[in-house]
Amino acid sequence: DSQESHQPFYFDVRGSSFEMPSGKAENGDYPPTLTASESEQLLSTIKDWSIANGLAVRPPLSLVKSDSDPHGILATTAPVTLFPSPFPRVCFEQAKSIQKSYNKLYAAIAQDEKFLGSIVQEILEVDEFIAQLWQVHLKVKEEGYVQNLSLGLFRSDYMVHQSTNDHTPTIKQVEFNTIASSFGGLSSQTSRLHKHLSISDYSLLDNPLLARNLDLPENSSTTSLASGLRVAFDTYKSTSQPLHDCCIIFLVQDPERNIFDQRHLEYALQRDNSPIPVFRLPFGQILSRTSVAKTTKRQLLYHVPSHTSTIFEVAVVYFRAGYGPSDYPDESAWKARFQIERSNAIKCPTILTQLAGAKKVQQVLASPTSPDTPSILNRFIKDSPKEIEDLEKTFTNIYPLDESSSGLSARKLATDPADCKGYVLKPQREGGGNNTYRTAIPPFLKSLPETYWKSYILMEIITPPPVHNIILRNGVLEQGGVICELGIYGTCVWDQGTGEVIHNEEAGYLLRTKGDKSEEGGVAAGFGSMDSCRLV
Ligand code: ADP
Ligand code: MG
Ligand code: MG
Repeated sequence: DSQESHQPFYFDVRGSSFEMPSGKAENGDYPPTLTASESEQLLSTIKDWSIANGLAVRPPLSLVKSDSDPHGILATTAPVTLFPSPFPRVCFEQAKSIQKSYNKLYAAIAQDEKFLGSIVQEILEVDEFIAQLWQVHLKVKEEGYVQNLSLGLFRSDYMVHQSTNDHTPTIKQVEFNTIASSFGGLSSQTSRLHKHLSISDYSLLDNPLLARNLDLPENSSTTSLASGLRVAFDTYKSTSQPLHDCCIIFLVQDPERNIFDQRHLEYALQRDNSPIPVFRLPFGQILSRTSVAKTTKRQLLYHVPSHTSTIFEVAVVYFRAGYGPSDYPDESAWKARFQIERSNAIKCPTILTQLAGAKKVQQVLASPTSPDTPSILNRFIKDSPKEIEDLEKTFTNIYPLDESSSGLSARKLATDPADCKGYVLKPQREGGGNNTYRTAIPPFLKSLPETYWKSYILMEIITPPPVHNIILRNGVLEQGGVICELGIYGTCVWDQGTGEVIHNEEAGYLLRTKGDKSEEGGVAAGFGSMDSCRLV
């Protein structure tokens, strides 16, 4: 989430709540204080622009369930900020410039079965989901993988960290997503929306500085992610002597509120001179709508439901589902995952690539180094100390909670009512809503058998400098302090056999913004919104 697609704008439960507008913003003149008629004008522009351009989501299930939308025809503006949030230019550049190194790093990790195996081994017995993913991989390995090519549509997420010494802002990585990295389709639209507002409504505001001074970077997330899919598709066609016309499958959840995000990528693939057939396949229908050819090649065949005699050969399977246990309610869902994994289709991602995105992997990469224990990154990135140094600059402290010596001291931190305040506890899960924050950590850990602790990691909380903005959500404006999270997309195609990287690109950005109220004093729901960067 990467993902977060089952709950599109859900960030983290204990993260935040919002203040309602409280008169003048404390943040100088940005965002500007709006008169009632100014916010009404902005709102009406955004409501129309967003629907006209697909910056939209399906309405909440509560509305659908209440029979207000029995035919599922409604769509609504995705939660979005009224203004692009100020974001340090140096940090934006830093995050973009490092993305290809991250792509390369994670492609190398995905090829290192021994390394992943050793990490998986540590948590197998207490994490059933990870264990089952690993089982699927082992089963396919036993009969032999037929497809060596892998596609990664990655997203590396960061927050700005202000160093206490010299106050220069740097980025610190929150996490790296290797499966179902979402919002790329909506993100380029959000950048376009803010650009549109800057030449229309913003210039009519009482604050004339605004329109002139906005530095809004280009955002190619939709077309760049589609290009990644296209490269994998073209490579499949030219290397696999297909039996049928080829297609791309989007494996999805059903229902999906964040569907337009996915549709933008689909439409971009079809807009080209050589359009690619795309089919949306709910995860639960894999076994009824696909089959594997009984050939040594094990082509994945897609049977078009309305014309069952029409068969496509699946060149690429793009997962927007399957990243968490809820997509695997029974044994047949695991059979379905196995069917995809053993087929000749290029997977985005393979099981190994999915596992490379585990929080536990991120923790191992961030392990402290010393002259005696050089960085583990040397295992994956050869002869490029500068790249390793640049990657390491984005790491923050992450600790295991196992029985190693650093694990044992982290257990002390995590269970101490004072020390735990600077930390977030994460399990090996994706999609948002799985973390435990600060003072909620000790009671949470105590509710678990100690044997389970090792499947969690303990991470320092990153506290970005304060930013103010106004969020439009479900027709209502919320104004106050916000926390921004920058994601940089990356696309990578590599050969698991030879290690050759066939394609490696940085692929646009995502800015997500949520209210900054801490979890202190209660549990308030924290919801994110789409945003874009105003470089400062
Ligand atoms: P997921 O894979 O479920 O998205 P994340 O690691 O991204 O898990 O955590 C979810 C959210 O929790 C993030 O989007 C961010 O808002 C918050 N968060 C996670 N780690 C940190 C951190 N180290 N500092 C501050 N906030 C964090
Ligand atoms: Mg994630
Ligand atoms: Mg995340």
